[in-house]
Amino acid sequence: MFPASTKILIVDDMGSIRTLVKNNLMDMGLSDIIEASDGEKAMAVLTQCLKSREPVQLIISDWNMPTMDGMELFKQVRAMPALGPVPFVMLTSESELEQVTTAILAGISNFIVKPFTKKILEEKLNAVWVKQQKHLQKS
Ligand SMILES: [Mg+2]
Repeated sequence: MFPASTKILIVDDMGSIRTLVKNNLMDMGLSDIIEASDGEKAMAVLTQCLKSREPVQLIISDWNMPTMDGMELFKQVRAMPALGPVPFVMLTSESELEQVTTAILAGISNFIVKPFTKKILEEKLNAVWVKQQKHLQKS
C-alpha cells in the first residue's frame, strides 16, 4: 500500500465526494491530502506542488467535471514530464463505464465506479501500488 507520507490530490466537482474519499484515505493512514474541484484547478495545484518541490504522488480524479474533465486532466498530466509516471485513478459513474475501456487503454492506472466502499477504494489503491512497484522494478 502507498506509504503514509504519499502526497495525494483528490479532484471532484462534488465537495461531498472529495470529503468521502479524503475520510476514507485518512482511515487508511494517508493524511497528506489536497483537493481541487475541477481539472483546471488540479493543474494549478500540480504545478504549484512541483514548484515547491513537493510533487503530488497519487491523483484520484472524477471523470465528469465542468471546465476540465478527468480525461483531459489525465492527458495534460501525462504531457508533463516531471509528473509523467504519477499514478492516476479515475472515479466514474456506472453510466460512464463504456468509456472506461478507452481510459484503461490510455494508461489510466485504475478506475473506481461510484458509489464505492472504503474496502473497494483500498483494494484498488493497493492494486495500483503493486502495479507501480512492478513497473519501477522493471525500469
Ligand atoms: Mg463530477
